[in-house]
Amino acid sequence: MKTEKTLILIKHDGIQRNLIGEIIGRYERVGLKLVGAKMVVPTGELVEKHYTVDPEWRRKTGEKTIKNYKEKGKTPPSEDPYVITGLVLERLKKYFITGPVVAMVWQGAHAVQVARKITGGTEPFSAADIGTIRGDFSLDSYLLSDKDERVLRNLVHASTSPEEAEKEIALWFKPEEVIKYKLAQDEILYKPELEGFLE
Ligand code: ADP
Repeated sequence: MKTEKTLILIKHDGIQRNLIGEIIGRYERVGLKLVGAKMVVPTGELVEKHYTVDPEWRRKTGEKTIKNYKEKGKTPPSEDPYVITGLVLERLKKYFITGPVVAMVWQGAHAVQVARKITGGTEPFSAADIGTIRGDFSLDSYLLSDKDERVLRNLVHASTSPEEAEKEIALWFKPEEVIKYKLAQDEILYKPELEGFLE
């Protein structure tokens, strides 16, 4: 459990907003351990593989968009989730290839859920709470991004399940690029008894 891993990408907008250090700090300070990091300009092929490692991604992301529109009393761009994600995927490919991303592997207990909590919901405007990366540093919305025919600029990607994380990490990192090492703080986070500190 302590070695659960998650993939985090600081996307193009996060880099252009000069938030690399701020974003890394958020995952670091909670107690996660950085075990892999690199800067990459992704290809469209990598982006498509990345988003479709979960065969349900097209349906889930389309349904999430429709639900969000309806909750705001607005009409979604389509009632068909697959039509929405067809467009989203094309826009994601166009967006990702225009600049570098910082790809990282973070490790620790409940790494996937902890990182999602720190990241915040998909739509910064209404789904990402204040205190999360997306809620604190972005105000983008589905309405704005659809109007401009682009993807939501929500700064980071974070895997949504340990199984998905494993597949995503294999796409972005060679096995030897994910480093096994000890941190002094691992003991403080995970050792059953904290002893030997009093002098
Ligand atoms: P998350 O990144 O929160 O896991 P998804 O996997 O559902 O969200 O979507 C992947 C990315 O695609 C989002 O982070 C966002 O940038 C973009 N996206 C998803 N749905 C839409 C949409 N309806 N309009 C614009 N961009 C979208």
